[in-house]
Amino acid sequence: MNEKDENLTEDTKPGNGTNDGDSSDDQYEKICYSCRRTESKAGPMINMPGGMCLCHDCMQKAFDTVLQNGFDISKIQNMPFLNMNLSDISKLNIPQPEIPQKQRIKKKASKSKEQPAFDIRDIPAPHKIKASLDQYVIGQEQAKKVISVAVYNHYKRVFAEQSRQAEENASAAAGDVIIEKSNILMIGPTGSGKTYLVKTLARLLDVPLAIADATSLTEAGYIGDDIESVISKLLAAADNDVERAEHGIVFIDEIDKIAKKKDTNSRDVSGESVQQELLKLLEGSMVEVPVGTNQKNALSPMATVNTDQILFICGGAFPDLERIVKERLNKSSSIGYRAELKDRYDDDPDILSYVTNADLRAFGMIPEFLGRLPIQVTLRKLTEPMLVKILKEPKNAILKQYIKLLELDEVKLVFEDEALEWIAAEAMKRETGARALRAIMEEFMLDIMFEVPKDPNIGTVVITRSYLEKNGGPRIEMRG
Ligand code: ADP
Repeated sequence: MNEKDENLTEDTKPGNGTNDGDSSDDQYEKICYSCRRTESKAGPMINMPGGMCLCHDCMQKAFDTVLQNGFDISKIQNMPFLNMNLSDISKLNIPQPEIPQKQRIKKKASKSKEQPAFDIRDIPAPHKIKASLDQYVIGQEQAKKVISVAVYNHYKRVFAEQSRQAEENASAAAGDVIIEKSNILMIGPTGSGKTYLVKTLARLLDVPLAIADATSLTEAGYIGDDIESVISKLLAAADNDVERAEHGIVFIDEIDKIAKKKDTNSRDVSGESVQQELLKLLEGSMVEVPVGTNQKNALSPMATVNTDQILFICGGAFPDLERIVKERLNKSSSIGYRAELKDRYDDDPDILSYVTNADLRAFGMIPEFLGRLPIQVTLRKLTEPMLVKILKEPKNAILKQYIKLLELDEVKLVFEDEALEWIAAEAMKRETGARALRAIMEEFMLDIMFEVPKDPNIGTVVITRSYLEKNGGPRIEMRG
């Protein structure tokens, strides 16, 4: 670097230049305006007039280019900044180019702090995780149990990894067992609570969560979202705090839609290729992601995220999987002395719990992909009694929400048990699981919510089955 360059660096140490900013800005990374790398990757930045930053590499390149062409920079006309002392420039009131808040990257905490970001003591034991889930998610006992254990183990592994890194040089660590990553594959019909389970889990653990849709993912370079966009979302959910994102959860929904396409001669850019590209993400790797946007472009800053400690949960309905499992089971039961059991599995509602990797491969998932999702859970199709429970029991049950709303008008809302059964039966017909419940409730609660506030004398509204069947109105009781 030449003399002029040295001066630039000296004069523009943070705090001297125009960009000293307020103290809250210190939490965010500076980004090179030329190569878009962050300060943690490119090294200390040189503050430029107008609040811009340049990394040393880019600054050097700029000077090299200019000097190679024989320019004397100080003689350039109409470039007052170059002839000025930089301390004068700082006094000029030059408007700073704003980086949108959603594109700013939080700095990683310095390693000297020695404080692990995630402490094992913060993670509740599996039975406690399950007990918390029970308050929100009805049924799905096995799935809740498996997930509680898997999540507990995952964060134990994160902690073990952190302490291992801390003692990296100690000889005792050399022979340590390294716990492998345990991502989860969740199979269950639509509306059975897959997304809800993961959302509840992330909220209980207070970790960032990104929910992505596998149908929108495509191989890099094709129309659609790149695989890394999933991590961009997680980073956004963690307020661009890379360290927090690295302990988060990514839920990839509709994973069955990226099954290998059968009988196709063209390149399978949204199927098998996406599975291939997801491999490195699931396994744990350093990925460069654009911040604040889904698309990589020259203007968006980039952050590097290590996916090794991110918990990936892939969920899907796998519509044709039941048939595959049934066929396999029926085939094996029709051989030899068990031949009489041929149709035994035809009416088994829990058929998906017998699923094996071979079935999933037959469905179109590639073995390497399945290998990276070692924990498999199946969710059952919700039954009518379960739907009734979902209406009234969870902590934020739909019924409780309506009761609370009317309570604000000092009106008591009561649902007859028969009415709830009718709603559950109606929801079963729509075949979208618990998702139909809210839609049905909305349909007939609209009139109630509209009419009741009209008359301040109304004290109680009882929703009856005949009202739902459109054979009469709700039972109204007046105050006093
Ligand atoms: P999917 O399995 O298709 O991801 P969701 O998790 O999105 O289904 O479920 C839709 C809605 O139904 C949730 O927002 C939640 O309110 C409700 N729901 C589904 N399953 C359950 C359950 N087992 N317990 C409580 N509520 C549930």
